[in-house]
Amino acid sequence: MTTKTYDGSCHCQAVRFRVTTDLDTAEILDCNCSICTKKGFLHLILEHEQFELLSGAESLTEYRFNTGAAKHQFCRICGIHPFYIARSDPNKIDVNLHCLDGVDVATLTPVKFDGQNWEEAIKVR
Ligand SMILES: [Zn+2]
Repeated sequence: MTTKTYDGSCHCQAVRFRVTTDLDTAEILDCNCSICTKKGFLHLILEHEQFELLSGAESLTEYRFNTGAAKHQFCRICGIHPFYIARSDPNKIDVNLHCLDGVDVATLTPVKFDGQNWEEAIKVR
């Protein structure tokens, strides 16, 4: 177990944040739903205590679709989606691993989440 602190940001650096996690044991999901596929979002699902927003709250805006449960937050300046509130985990925060500095996503072993069939996938998760 190696818990580490990682800094992350959107592309323009308006939104900056810090997470504390052990990437060897953390929940990492690769979802095939319509929006995750197009964004290339790689999910790191964390407790709020593991997440700290350092700057940019005023730069975040939100997109909702379908059930409206997920809050797809993104930077209004550069359009990058660094984290959001997922429909599957409304009490947690879902961070885009591609937005963390110093993480080689090719070394991670995400679990597949069949978001195209969300109602079934959530039952067997
Ligand atoms: Zn930005």
